[in-house]
Amino acid sequence: MELVEDIVIVGAGIAGLTTALGLHRLGIRSLVLESHDSLRITGFALAIWTNAWKALDAVGISESLRRRHTRLLGVMTTSTVSGLPTAETQFSAAGTQRDHHEVRCVQRKILMETLVNELPSGTIKFSSKVVSIEQSGNLKLIHLSDGSILKAKVLLGCDGVNSAVAKWLGFKAPAFVGRFAVRGSVYNENGHGFEPTLFEFIGEGFRSGFVACDDKTMYWFATFSTSMSNQEMEESPAKVKQFVLSKLGKVADDFKAVVRDTELENLSLAPLRFRHPWDILWGRTSKSNVCVAGDAFHPMTPDIGQGGCAALEDGVILARCLGEALRDKQGIRSEEYRRIEMGLKNYAKERRWRAFELISTAYMVGYIQTSNGKILSFLRNKVLGGFFARQQLKLASFDCGRLTTS
Ligand SMILES: Cc1cc2nc3c(=O)[nH]c(=O)nc-3n(C[C@H](O)[C@H](O)[C@H](O)COP(=O)(O)OP(=O)(O)OC[C@H]3O[C@@H](n4cnc5c(N)ncnc54)[C@H](O)[C@@H]3O)c2cc1C
Repeated sequence: MELVEDIVIVGAGIAGLTTALGLHRLGIRSLVLESHDSLRITGFALAIWTNAWKALDAVGISESLRRRHTRLLGVMTTSTVSGLPTAETQFSAAGTQRDHHEVRCVQRKILMETLVNELPSGTIKFSSKVVSIEQSGNLKLIHLSDGSILKAKVLLGCDGVNSAVAKWLGFKAPAFVGRFAVRGSVYNENGHGFEPTLFEFIGEGFRSGFVACDDKTMYWFATFSTSMSNQEMEESPAKVKQFVLSKLGKVADDFKAVVRDTELENLSLAPLRFRHPWDILWGRTSKSNVCVAGDAFHPMTPDIGQGGCAALEDGVILARCLGEALRDKQGIRSEEYRRIEMGLKNYAKERRWRAFELISTAYMVGYIQTSNGKILSFLRNKVLGGFFARQQLKLASFDCGRLTTS
């Protein structure tokens, strides 16, 4: 049986749920199709920077998240080789409002559940994997793995790094950058005792970070190249943990203890992939009544902690552009199709250079931070640390605006 829906969003991740909530705030209904049978939460936590807090303000869920997560004071970078600090950045430097940054490490489960709780019931349809898309006049036919078919006036691909919608738009599959990431989380009922700072450790091609989500939860990550295969690491998380511990060099013992205390089921491994920045410029982010957002649009390496933040920005801007297109409900049908097409084009235009800049910066920062060469290591420790921090704060100053249609 074919069901007709106005707006179908593929993927109940950060991008899909933020877009659905943004549309809901504008009084527009959407249906979110999620391939899993429940919310898919991988990676425990993520750094939410100033730009993403603005997006969370826009969809009206920032306050409850603020209450549950500690505000970070800054980033402290230390060499794993010398054990000495190489750079330090304060987030709330005395000075102008522009210097004032809000950064917290937010638990993914809490973020996703907060988004879902604000949506009308029935918005998400779980166990609904999109397998192919077809044209049917001005509508899109969405084929699901259970054989059912939906018709949609608008199709928004928020289906992550392996996006079926991005493929339909003609994007190539994202490229593996030759590095992996491991993430972990530890809960301590008596409190972890760490300062609210992002502690970063870099050296010999290995980068790690430790950060408090709240008084009791510590999140950590590491990125690296390795001769171990993905399968080998997936099958032996104990080996991965040992590998991380062996790379921490002169990192203080209390950080090493965080890794040691992480239960194996609280480790998550990911091969790092990104879309080449030129594919963002030359590729089609939107085509007729279809577009992509989040990792489906701009998968990037996690080196500046902006993938999820950018997905939140996308959600707000996409909802606004689509809201503007759908505002004139009295319009003739063919006119509506044209307005939707223009709305999605406006979104793509507004996001193209932002996505380009984020992907390129993340790749460059990752490349230099995990480089083992003598010259790059020297430059990184002496000069580039401060430059990266300024660049990161500049990117986090972006304002996606509010959720109103003019
Ligand atoms: C190691 C690491 C650390 C990171 N750290 C940070 C950080 O500190 N800060 C930050 O902002 N970002 C960070 N990121 C990036 C961030 O995790 C992603 O950018 C973000 O999760 C992307 O959200 P999304 O909704 O676009 O995609 P996803 O979270 O991948 O969601 C896509 C959803 O679509 C569903 N889906 C996929 N295919 C289909 C289909 N065919 N049919 C139906 N449903 C489908 C999936 O099941 C999933 O639920 C990090 C990433 C990594 C790997």
